Amino acid sequence: MTALKLISSRDEAGNVRTFIFETNGLAWIAGQNQGYTLPQAGATEAENQRWFTIASAPSEGVIHLTTRVSDSRFKQALNAMKPGEEIMAYDLGGDFTWEEESDEPVVMVAGGIGVTPFRSILLERHKAGKPLNATLLYFNRTEEVPFQTELQKLSNKHPEFTLRITIGEHITADKILELAPQARKQILYLSGPEPMVESIGSKLHERGITVKQDRFPGYDDKNY
Ligand SMILES: Cc1cc2nc3c(=O)[nH]c(=O)nc-3n(C[C@H](O)[C@H](O)[C@H](O)COP(=O)(O)OP(=O)(O)OC[C@H]3O[C@@H](n4cnc5c(N)ncnc54)[C@H](O)[C@@H]3O)c2cc1C
Repeated sequence: MTALKLISSRDEAGNVRTFIFETNGLAWIAGQNQGYTLPQAGATEAENQRWFTIASAPSEGVIHLTTRVSDSRFKQALNAMKPGEEIMAYDLGGDFTWEEESDEPVVMVAGGIGVTPFRSILLERHKAGKPLNATLLYFNRTEEVPFQTELQKLSNKHPEFTLRITIGEHITADKILELAPQARKQILYLSGPEPMVESIGSKLHERGITVKQDRFPGYDDKNY
């Protein structure tokens, strides 16, 4: 367990907020996640524990958690934290990462808040001066799109990076292949609400596509 001190927090879009913590020496690879405990959220793990991707790039030197602030006790306790207060982090890991040595083009598909690992990965490569050989298909429920400005800035600076934001449409395997037919030959990173990732991931897999998945429980097609 590592105690992480809150530095500040900020609104992103709609009910999405970013909570910025000191790293306390934690070193991570862009795209990884860890578990977090907030004892003040309740006595049971269902109340006081959640997993979050680290939405910041390692080179930013701070840990960002970006999440939809729901009515759950955990999210309410997180949102009530004051600068200087601590969250406990554990089990850093995950392989939803872009192989360091590879510049092979990839397709990224984000369902709403599932965009968090892509912010970390893309920003880290940008800061390291590497090409962003990627197409990001970003599906969001509403016009309030987290990280829209930051992602658009990256795409302006990197002609090899294509950003396609789609609002309010049902996400399907067919739609993904229509927007990014090259996915048939590339690695596809899929991140978003657990039911969406499971159903689309298996449909793409059946078509012979290599899919890396990041599943966010607690989200579905109504709240992602
Ligand atoms: C590897 C991994 C990475 C992840 N990364 C992220 C990330 O970067 N960002 C992120 O947001 N999530 C991430 N998640 C998901 C995260 O762990 C939570 O499951 C998710 O954020 C939902 O948490 P919640 O407390 O809002 O919802 P839950 O408590 O699971 O509730 C689901 C829904 O029920 C409603 N609800 C719950 N309790 C109440 C209540 N008491 N009263 C009224 N309504 C209620 C909530 O509004 C919510 O819409 C990740 C999960 C994994 C496994």
